[in-house]
Amino acid sequence: MGPAAGSTTRRRITALAATAAVVATLAASSPAAVAGTPDAAPVKSPVAVGYGGAVSSVDANASAVGIDVLRRGGNAVDAAVATAAALGVTEPYSAGIGGGGYLVYYNARTHRISTIDGRETAPHTATDGLFLENGKPLPFDQAVTSGLSVGAPGTPATWQAALDRWGTRSLAQSLAPAERLAERGFTVDQTFRQQTADNQARFADFPATAKLFLPGGRLPVVGSTFANPDLARTYQELGRRGLGALYRGDIGTDIIDTVHKPPVSPTATRKVRPGKLSAADLAGYGVNFRSPTHVSYRGLDVYGIAPSSSGGTTTGEALNILQRYDLSTMSSAQYLHHFIEASRIAFADRGRWVGDPAYTNVPSRGLTSRQFADSRACLIKPDAVLSSPLPPGDPRHPVSGCDHGGTAAPTTYEGQNTTNLTVADRWGNVVEYTLTIEQTGGSGIVVPGRGFLLNNELTDFDFAPANPAVPDPNLPGPGKRPRSSISPTIVLKDGRPDFAIGSPGGATIITTVLQVLLGHVDRGLPLVDAIAAPRASQRNGANTELEPGLYNSPLRGELERIGHHFALNPEIGAATGVQRLPDGRWVAAAETVRRGGGSAMVVHPSGKE
Ligand code: GLU
Repeated sequence: MGPAAGSTTRRRITALAATAAVVATLAASSPAAVAGTPDAAPVKSPVAVGYGGAVSSVDANASAVGIDVLRRGGNAVDAAVATAAALGVTEPYSAGIGGGGYLVYYNARTHRISTIDGRETAPHTATDGLFLENGKPLPFDQAVTSGLSVGAPGTPATWQAALDRWGTRSLAQSLAPAERLAERGFTVDQTFRQQTADNQARFADFPATAKLFLPGGRLPVVGSTFANPDLARTYQELGRRGLGALYRGDIGTDIIDTVHKPPVSPTATRKVRPGKLSAADLAGYGVNFRSPTHVSYRGLDVYGIAPSSSGGTTTGEALNILQRYDLSTMSSAQYLHHFIEASRIAFADRGRWVGDPAYTNVPSRGLTSRQFADSRACLIKPDAVLSSPLPPGDPRHPVSGCDHGGTAAPTTYEGQNTTNLTVADRWGNVVEYTLTIEQTGGSGIVVPGRGFLLNNELTDFDFAPANPAVPDPNLPGPGKRPRSSISPTIVLKDGRPDFAIGSPGGATIITTVLQVLLGHVDRGLPLVDAIAAPRASQRNGANTELEPGLYNSPLRGELERIGHHFALNPEIGAATGVQRLPDGRWVAAAETVRRGGGSAMVVHPSGKE
């Protein structure tokens, strides 16, 4: 962190802490934070400051579950798994055992960063024509609501792997609070109702989905209690019998049957294509422990997730480009301009080079090297805008001059969904974890009697190359992981955690994580304010998306005058993070408004200086 930006950040955090402690006290000490009863949901607060560990997620029940694990002596990994399992109950359209995700972990004992790639995998029978019919790509929405898009889930294996390596609790213990939550239910809020409404038409076409999420054929009412006894039983079975119940047992058989013969209502008119996921695909599933990506940025060490996600390499490349500029003293317009252009360049390179490393040679080191960033940063002009699609450069052989790239390919479409959580414990361990079932509502298909939705993660593959003249590393393949944008990021200062950040939002995850990081490090914003700040997202497209706070500001005109084009995006991402203060306290930070606001909690709230 640059000295000027650093001192501003610390000053503002101190001022914030006094008020934050009041809300944090309310949040962490409400009876429901311990008991988790449906009629007394914990108070939601976007920020909390104190000792003993911290949890931030989009949901107060889930954060309370994590805090309770920490309070009872569990570590950050135990709490992260328990929180994730709770999100599977309260955020069933974004996360759950039917999906996958990526976890980044800082181990306070070894001072090392490790990661788990728990991405879903394609069936071993998949080819690059998985989403082609008569040589043409399927319409995206038809692919989404299908058995075809369901990958072998990675989330249960991620939980078990994290607990085995770094946790202190069993899977059964970690699932128990979520199991209770599923049994007793949680209070429906406006976000849950709206997400159900957005999915109502397709949910209604699957009787098992409608029975669970549209009880009596209607949307759940705000303030009512939503319970999921089927999921409680599934969690119990998983806890009692272990992972084998899903990857080689009854739960797996139910998943496979559902994928092979999606249980569609006889009155449904939509065509729901079956998939070919098999028992062998489930039995063969394994997570990957991968080395993190790493770049240094203003004296900080930024660790991210390596491919199969494009998160770490793309944020890393953008940071390497941006470190050449003093963003802390730039005007707001110039700062945004540089952020937008660096994102555009990094996305051009992501599209050409990043896919599942088991299937394509991903030049991760090149993409995150200073030399390559230098060969691309020279494209940025202070008073003109690059046009998209921008051609990719070649990170395998960075040139000493300017790399203008070869042939361009547009960025392919991705939705904007998912959920994220951040946990820190009293020992200094940190977990940043993004988990997903892809689309909000996943495939729309609940496994009958099991209480969870199947993912549609395979739609993150490119259905066909965006430009046939440019090699595409993200076409479907047998057993292949679709490229992700998930970007859980842990930032160290002098070898110790400084802050951690992650977000949902499909490909906008990358720009959100980047923007929060820049807002905090370069623009001197406290983490919660960096998260709250209005967002922009440029992904090598003609338009940069702006949230209303930027779209309706004079900054837009200033930027349009130098050639930017903008489109309105009502809401981008839903970030969570933690920050370690110099005195050892944790700041947990979440959204103030997006997705109805997030839930930040600490174990022992404290406003003390
Ligand atoms: N499928 C997305 C990805 O892995 C995450 C889901 C989302 O946020 O849209 O990048």
